[in-house]
Amino acid sequence: MTRKPLSSAAAALIAGVILLSGCSAGSKSESSGTAAETTTTAAETTAEPLQRRIREYDPEKPVIALTFDDGPNLVTTPQVLDVLEKYDAAGSFFLIGSNISDETGEVVKRAYSMGCDIENHSLTHANFTTMTVGDFTAEVEETDRKIEDLTGEVPKFFRAPYLAANTDMFENIDKCFISGFGCNDWDDSVSVEQRIDGVLSQAADGAVILLHDAQGNQKTVEALDTIIPELQKQGYQLVTISQLFEAKGRDPMEEIYKYRQISSVIV
Ligand SMILES: [Zn+2]
Repeated sequence: MTRKPLSSAAAALIAGVILLSGCSAGSKSESSGTAAETTTTAAETTAEPLQRRIREYDPEKPVIALTFDDGPNLVTTPQVLDVLEKYDAAGSFFLIGSNISDETGEVVKRAYSMGCDIENHSLTHANFTTMTVGDFTAEVEETDRKIEDLTGEVPKFFRAPYLAANTDMFENIDKCFISGFGCNDWDDSVSVEQRIDGVLSQAADGAVILLHDAQGNQKTVEALDTIIPELQKQGYQLVTISQLFEAKGRDPMEEIYKYRQISSVIV
């Protein structure tokens, strides 16, 4: 049973109060919660499991997953997290493994603790279609390891650098490939307004939105401050990529999602 109806005031209250005491960057969640229903610790292999907020949503209502590529970093990733926090929204971060350091790792922990998903976007952001199977699987595995070291969870989703994918990749990377509806927000000449319009015009139930929290991408941070409340006003719940599938009762490893890059859970 994966449905999680937001049916009671109690559930809403729980969702509202289980923010961790140590959810800011730089802190560790040493004060483990005593109320079992308020936290989830997915870690099985790390010595220091992170606490994580449980995010409730109503599977009967429309859902969208905001996703962010090319982090983590110490400027733009925290700004994106601040905006998500401001509107009580979730996001999913597809990390470049080589960007993960001791310092940026704390930002990743903050995102995870907020209830955001942490996923895999390669180690070096190379074009995998020009690489050997051995080389690109090594990139995926190293990034998985770095993320698991931080969160205790191995990413289930992968976004190919440049969205460049081929059969070798589909057959050798055992993850659900995600693309998404974007607005070319990696291009600095795309204005804040164009980013807002680009996202809002593609909003739909079950959709993945593709954005970037790359260092210095200030226009996307600004755009989010309009995009998020507008989507919420339209009735969308901003959930993680995992929840997007869960909400529709779908398993991302289903055959129907294989050999393609997914922009919407509804295919
Ligand atoms: Zn990228």
